[in-house]
Amino acid sequence: MAQSTRKVPLTEVLRVDPTRPDPEIIARAAGCLRDGGLVAFPTETVYGLGAHARDPDAIRRLFEAKGRPAHDPLIVHVASLEQVEQVAAAVPEMARALAARFWPGPLTLVLPRGDAVPREVTAGLETVGVRVPSHPVARALLEAARLPIAAPSANLFSRPSPTCAAHVLHDLEGRIDMVLDGGPTTVGVESTVIDLTGDVPTVLRPGAVSLEQLQDVVPTAAAAGPGAFGPSAGRKEGAAPSPGLLPLHYAPRTPLVLYRGRANAVRDAILDEARDALARGERVGILATAEDAQALRPLPVVIAELGPEHDVERVAARLYAALRDLDGSGVDVILVRDFSRERGLGRALRDRLERAASAIRVV
Ligand code: AMP
Ligand code: MG
Repeated sequence: MAQSTRKVPLTEVLRVDPTRPDPEIIARAAGCLRDGGLVAFPTETVYGLGAHARDPDAIRRLFEAKGRPAHDPLIVHVASLEQVEQVAAAVPEMARALAARFWPGPLTLVLPRGDAVPREVTAGLETVGVRVPSHPVARALLEAARLPIAAPSANLFSRPSPTCAAHVLHDLEGRIDMVLDGGPTTVGVESTVIDLTGDVPTVLRPGAVSLEQLQDVVPTAAAAGPGAFGPSAGRKEGAAPSPGLLPLHYAPRTPLVLYRGRANAVRDAILDEARDALARGERVGILATAEDAQALRPLPVVIAELGPEHDVERVAARLYAALRDLDGSGVDVILVRDFSRERGLGRALRDRLERAASAIRVV
């Protein structure tokens, strides 16, 4: 079974079986967390960067490693619903009902903060985001550490979230203590965040659990208004930098232009822009569905293919890796047709594409 595969300066990479992780390796990682260390590990959504949630020094190191602004709260991961009582001041009936349906799994509940959770974790808020992940490695780690683990995505702040260990190392090698490499994650987009502390249960971040699924359990659940999602939610200073644009997040370094409108008009506009850019001597990257990729093949552009448009799960699982591939290919601009839908997992895709975009063009 898995052994240490290699050592890099300061960051140790340990390969683990994603379905049956070696207890010895998990015990080492748990010890590192208990000692205040930073350990990246796979969850079913994306890789998380874990730190002891009750240790303010560990939490400060975590923010520093990610370059994350202190006003962006962390999600606390726990092993079971019982453990939620240790981090939340109250667990309403609605939370229990949602937990019964979706945990372990990609749903984060925002609840009143418990005293045991330092304010560093919640960015000063009197609420705490908490979830029970389903990935066997995350579960084993939580059980072995016997701690609540604060874990944001294991990437540099504002960049696409990591869906494999190589992404984590690309961003954080030398800045964190350990990476548990359990292979690629399956869901590929972050957990859905629902706030249960207000009058109306409100989805603050669309994610792997859809609004429709939530409404099955809590019919009054509602989506937050535009601009309400993400780290700057509800903050004046986080207001959209230009009309129609949300604060940049999950974004490649390369400028990304998102096209909206009728599919054929958008395809033509992307072709025109690609040809113009090529004529200027620029390199062009296109993030494309399998169908569009086929049509674009004759052009001398770099294509990152996501999968068939109807296969939303596959597209979501590929999204961040494709953005990172394009970034790494040295293109000057990334063009994307907005293929997302206003339902199911499509909402999460729409949110991530909008946040990754440096410009949105409606044609
Ligand atoms: P990440 O862990 O990088 O996936 O991001 C965590 C996100 O969860 C934050 O950016 C917020 O959008 C959300 N979140 C976590 N805790 C809270 C909270 N107490 N209140 C509102 N949103 C939260
Ligand atoms: Mg993140």
